[in-house]
Amino acid sequence: MSEAYDYDLFVIGAGSGGVRASRVSAAYGAKVAIAEEHKVGGTCVIRGCVPKKLLVFGAHFAEDLQDARRFGWEVPDCKFDWATLRDNVLDEVARLEGLYTENLERHSVEIVKERATVTGPHGITLSSGRKVTARKILIATGATPVIPEFPGAEHGITSNEAFHLERVPQRVVIAGGGYIANEFAGIFHQFGSQVTVVNRSDVILRGYDEQIRDRLLQISLTKGIDFKFNAQFKKVEKAEDGTLRIHLTGCDPIEADLLLFATGRRPHTEDLGLESAGVEIDNKGAVVVDADNRSTCPSIYAVGDVTNRVQLTPVAIREGQAFADTIFGDKPTRVDYDCIPSAVFSHPPLAGVGLTESEARNKLGSVKTYTSDFRAMKNVLAGRNERSLYKLVVDGETEQVVGIHMIGPDAPEILQAAAIAVKAGLRKEQFDAVVALHPTMAEELVLMR
Ligand code: NDP
Repeated sequence: MSEAYDYDLFVIGAGSGGVRASRVSAAYGAKVAIAEEHKVGGTCVIRGCVPKKLLVFGAHFAEDLQDARRFGWEVPDCKFDWATLRDNVLDEVARLEGLYTENLERHSVEIVKERATVTGPHGITLSSGRKVTARKILIATGATPVIPEFPGAEHGITSNEAFHLERVPQRVVIAGGGYIANEFAGIFHQFGSQVTVVNRSDVILRGYDEQIRDRLLQISLTKGIDFKFNAQFKKVEKAEDGTLRIHLTGCDPIEADLLLFATGRRPHTEDLGLESAGVEIDNKGAVVVDADNRSTCPSIYAVGDVTNRVQLTPVAIREGQAFADTIFGDKPTRVDYDCIPSAVFSHPPLAGVGLTESEARNKLGSVKTYTSDFRAMKNVLAGRNERSLYKLVVDGETEQVVGIHMIGPDAPEILQAAAIAVKAGLRKEQFDAVVALHPTMAEELVLMR
């Protein structure tokens, strides 16, 4: 395309958003390079969604093997070997990294395995000292875990390191009450750890429907996961044998073998040189962009977690695709942020799409809700007293289903399909018109009256 620059597009960060943008831009004929200082694949593939979900599968066997006995299987006392699961998961991550790399290469995207910093609207310097120019620069550097500041915080780890542990810790304290805290609480608990979740406020999973998060809290407490609310970290001391003594406000110190910080993720813009190009960064460290992903410097764009819009992989991928379509494909495209489904892979998992009940009441005024509170058939036979909860939030005037929220086995799988109906703006009577598929859990969605 352009000969005035070394590249048409230089992407910094080979995560979900950066990889999609590079590959599609190159397919449109752009000369593209992508810089990555760690591994190709980014947070989701290397140290996030993918290895986490594999650990969730691994953890679920703890209950599945117990339940199998009620279904007639003779199951000897099983032992869990963390090293086997960890190494198999890391092998799978390496395989996926290889696939991502191959895919970029197949599209003639040059992969630069170095740290890159911006030196001006079209300038980039690599850690080797090499300087390159590009007509457009895309910042797709993602986000990094936030570690609260207090004495001894350095004794904790983040989810980045959790995939590489030498052994399963006996006692785990998890700081935070969001996605990562609840997912890892379930994982460690199933592996036999004694888990305490410590949160600064008195709620978990702010943003999810209240009834659904209350159900997760109730189930987690019943399983034996401990929660400390309204607690701040004062200090952590490490004994010679490695034991951590964790001092919190409002309760006695807790001893643990592992402290995991799951206290949010901050956009990764530090030391990127963005100020040299006049790129505005907001007070949370995010690149400020318009609806076309363009920063305050006209030649520099940003997609994904670094923009702190919706920190979810599929959103970053859509933003990367929209960037490439708009800039190199001559197909102006904007991401639609309405009705994005999301899920927490806790034990059991929960998922939601659209407005929560309280959001709907604030926004619409007149709201009807329908709930189904039931024990999954499999849980009944297994003797597992764990109830699922499905909820429809309906606009009282138009009868449009504006939100679906659910917790129970396979909730994210079921919700992905149900989200189509919410996105399509279907009304409650159209749900009711569908004949139930029996016996399933999902049939509850069309049986609520
Ligand atoms: P979340 O934003 O989900 O939760 C952060 C938690 O930490 C909240 O409970 C928050 O409390 C608390 N917190 C925030 N800052 C501090 C602080 N300085 N000191 C003490 N507590 C603090 O973040 P996660 O780290 O769990 O996950 C990061 C992001 O990654 C998520 O927002 C999500 O977008 C993504 N993610 C998505 C997953 C999925 O889709 N299944 C899985 C894992 C991560 P309070 O509520 O009071 O603010």
